[in-house]
Amino acid sequence: MRAQPEASHFIDGAYVEDDAGKAFESVYAATGAVIAKLHSATPAIIEKAMASAVRAQREWASWLPAERARVLRRAADIIRARNEALSELETLDTGKAIQETLVADASSGADSLEWFSAQAASLSGESVPLGDDAFAYTVRAPLGVCVGIGAWNYPTQIACWKAAPALAAGNAMVFKPSEMTPLCALKLAEIFIEAGAPKGLFNVVQGFGDVGAALSTHKDTAKVSLTGSVPTGAKVYAAAASGMRHVTMELGGKSPLIVFEDADLEDAIGGAMLGNFYSTGQICSNGTRVFVQKSILEKFLSRLAERTAAIRLGDPLDPETHLGPLISQGQRDKVMSYIEKGKAERARLVIGGGIPAGDGFEKGAYIEPTVFADVTDDMTIAREEIFGPVMSVLAFETEDEVIERANGTEFGLAAGLFTKDIARAHRVAGKLAAGICWINTYNLTPVEIPFGGVKHSGFGRENGKAAIEFYSQLKTVHVALGRVDAPY
Ligand code: NDP
Repeated sequence: MRAQPEASHFIDGAYVEDDAGKAFESVYAATGAVIAKLHSATPAIIEKAMASAVRAQREWASWLPAERARVLRRAADIIRARNEALSELETLDTGKAIQETLVADASSGADSLEWFSAQAASLSGESVPLGDDAFAYTVRAPLGVCVGIGAWNYPTQIACWKAAPALAAGNAMVFKPSEMTPLCALKLAEIFIEAGAPKGLFNVVQGFGDVGAALSTHKDTAKVSLTGSVPTGAKVYAAAASGMRHVTMELGGKSPLIVFEDADLEDAIGGAMLGNFYSTGQICSNGTRVFVQKSILEKFLSRLAERTAAIRLGDPLDPETHLGPLISQGQRDKVMSYIEKGKAERARLVIGGGIPAGDGFEKGAYIEPTVFADVTDDMTIAREEIFGPVMSVLAFETEDEVIERANGTEFGLAAGLFTKDIARAHRVAGKLAAGICWINTYNLTPVEIPFGGVKHSGFGRENGKAAIEFYSQLKTVHVALGRVDAPY
């Protein structure tokens, strides 16, 4: 199986190679097969990408809003028309099950481009009356060239969620995918050209952290938008600050999901499973600390184990498969070491905890969906982001207690709660320290609503009207209508 792109980078409307860059391979996580060979960007590639983005941004910003909107809309339409091929590529890039990628990746990217095309067409400032002698108006101006740096779990969606608001606001973007998933963003770059974008408006350069760092500190970079871990976020934030650049930081989490005793049990279990096992657990907003009220704990666990046992692991390209492998063997080792820590710290293993044996599993980075019960707040598995299909169930007794424990983390990306008590639902949602809180569902991220974290989980928002604010700046123009009143 091969998914070799024409060349490693896409710059100024065309594929570009520079063999002097460090070579790396793209590996299909389900089989360990090398599906593409690429090169990391050299300084010359980075310069080429930045220079072409600077040129494209000037042109793009001069277009009529409706013209810009049309390009984004066309890109969305092209993505939808190619959903199947793009979903297959997403599956090869990440190992995620095709059952998921067909509905959650390219299609989410298309939603975002479509929705932000409407924003592009309707961006406006305000007019401020200042009496008879003056007035002022504001203009929502682009920032310039924005750098997007992606994690490996959602290569298409991350690229679109960054590009759509950035381009809608009149910016250009240079995007660096994770070197684990280099393929999908290249297709998006092709599609933008096909949709009529100026060459260079969306460039893709490949590479490791050093390429991300070089882009983050480039003299022409106005903004850096990162999706990644908290330690990388701290580095990129600091690097961006050195040049007073704008940032959006979409970082990790250890989100709480609270199940009160009056919750619909099947819904709560379904939410907890989606919030821990979807994308083989590699989702930043996952509700990995599942707090269950003591009175329903054993009932919750036995039904959860029953439903978890029915999850089908296997070939990600088989439409019947629920869960594919993790992104890499390295990630599997990391997740397995957390499972070992959970056992050593005396959490109760309810189900899973191992590497599946048998045909088709030998070469892939597979891991069983895993549930631990009797987890306490101080255990490693309750404190650190695992980024794999490992659910920790913690017991609680009272509302006040669970709020305090749910908030007792450096992270603050997301939170969820299941209850039929409407007053309690809103009361608790109001007290949870998280950028997004779901009531009676989990992990839904329609483009219309802002998404992003508080505390160490990040800064800035993706999606929703809020995203435009993070990809633009207000310029105020004061207009005098009278004479200048100078005392000297
Ligand atoms: P990393 O933080 O390791 O990497 C993220 C990206 O940053 C990669 O492209 C990486 O390149 C690049 N990078 C690494 N070092 C630097 C640097 N010094 N300067 C600039 N760029 C750099 O994250 P992962 O790829 O491992 O993704 C998993 C993490 O992402 C998890 O913590 C997860 O929670 C978070 N995440 C957050 C989301 C959110 O929306 N809040 C969504 C999805 C994931 P390279 O790959 O070569 O190291």
